[in-house]
Amino acid sequence: MDRYDAVVVGGGPSGATCARILAEKGARVLIVERETLPRFKLCAGCLSARIDPLLPKGWKKLVLNSIRGGYLGFRGMSYREVSSNLPVAYIVDRSGFDHFLVKEAVASGSDLWEGTEFVRFEGEGPLKVHTTKGTVLADFLIGADGFYSKVAKQTGFGKTRFFRSVEFWTEGEVTDKVVIDIGLVKRGYAWIFPKGELVSVGIASVGKDNLRKIIETYVAGNPFLKVRGVAGVKGWMIPFTEHWGDLQLGRGRVMLVGDSASMVDPLLGEGIYYGVLGGKLLAESIIRNPSNALDLYTLKVRETIFPELLYAGKIARTAYRFQRTAHRVGEKALLRFLYLLSGVTSYGELYRKGLVGFLISALNFENFLHIIIDKILRRR
Ligand SMILES: Cc1cc2nc3c(=O)[nH]c(=O)nc-3n(C[C@H](O)[C@H](O)[C@H](O)COP(=O)(O)OP(=O)(O)OC[C@H]3O[C@@H](n4cnc5c(N)ncnc54)[C@H](O)[C@@H]3O)c2cc1C
Repeated sequence: MDRYDAVVVGGGPSGATCARILAEKGARVLIVERETLPRFKLCAGCLSARIDPLLPKGWKKLVLNSIRGGYLGFRGMSYREVSSNLPVAYIVDRSGFDHFLVKEAVASGSDLWEGTEFVRFEGEGPLKVHTTKGTVLADFLIGADGFYSKVAKQTGFGKTRFFRSVEFWTEGEVTDKVVIDIGLVKRGYAWIFPKGELVSVGIASVGKDNLRKIIETYVAGNPFLKVRGVAGVKGWMIPFTEHWGDLQLGRGRVMLVGDSASMVDPLLGEGIYYGVLGGKLLAESIIRNPSNALDLYTLKVRETIFPELLYAGKIARTAYRFQRTAHRVGEKALLRFLYLLSGVTSYGELYRKGLVGFLISALNFENFLHIIIDKILRRR
């Protein structure tokens, strides 16, 4: 039976990054990916610019659009625009992007079993990892297998918080700006992101809204779209963390990363940056402290990723509760948000500065009325 230092289940951004860094440090790694690559992944493919130093060289050739600003709307109207001189985010096609990351992991020495499904594991040291292609031994098992992670389930974890989302592609008017609309669902937002020649249109919500219906109405009168109809809509889940207990990092030598760990921002559902950063932290923890890798990984995540998710959660709870006010202070907030995407500021700073602006704005009488009306409407 083949023996590996680590078996990584899932060839998405978190698994491929973790595998690449482990292999670069000389570990024997096997990636087990259910699909044949390149595979489709429902996603708007927006990468905040701060991801750049975490990715292997050459990734920028996959960029379809560079984002230099955005529009914040309220229910498809009253758009507020902000611009930046430098790109704050990049759009990629996920199938090509993920395939590139897996190829980099393979070039670094990882083995790849594609079209192969992880089935279950047993034992402790080494673990016996059963797949549809056979069984291997591994010192570490890494669950990077997304929202419905089998590795997480077998380790006793389930998702507690998540957005439901739908997305489709059509013809639109934006090429270097993103459009975000609030006020359509209780907690969540609709988006129009450029995607090469097309645009990605979608909506994410924590509630049980009829997203397909909402997106049809949204599309019907939207000034950023050329086509009014909705076709080829697909849906998927986006797990997120806003409290420490939401993060699921694993047990013993079985560790989780990316969506399978709920390592996603609770404000916007950004998961690629956190998954890639998580993959790096996990690989480094295994290399530096193989006898207690989970503790080191937990510490690193607690110091770096978690504060961001925590503050993003605080912003999300306030902004989605008072969506009209959030839209009114949106211009300034959006500008700061662009700095966040480019890595100049953090969610912690955004929260502190944004809160001051929000309170000043809320003291403005007109806004105060909006808050009261918002509250009354919510009670009905
Ligand atoms: C509609 C939508 C839009 C989004 N837009 C954005 C965005 O613009 N920017 C952003 O940052 N995030 C976005 N996200 C979130 C982002 O897609 C995820 O956070 C990200 O894909 C997580 O990466 P991952 O590597 O953890 O998991 P995934 O990318 O889901 O990869 C998991 C991999 O595991 C494989 N797998 C699953 N089960 C098994 C098994 N049993 N055996 C073997 N392999 C298995 C899957 O085939 C898959 O390749 C969006 C999500 C959705 C649904």
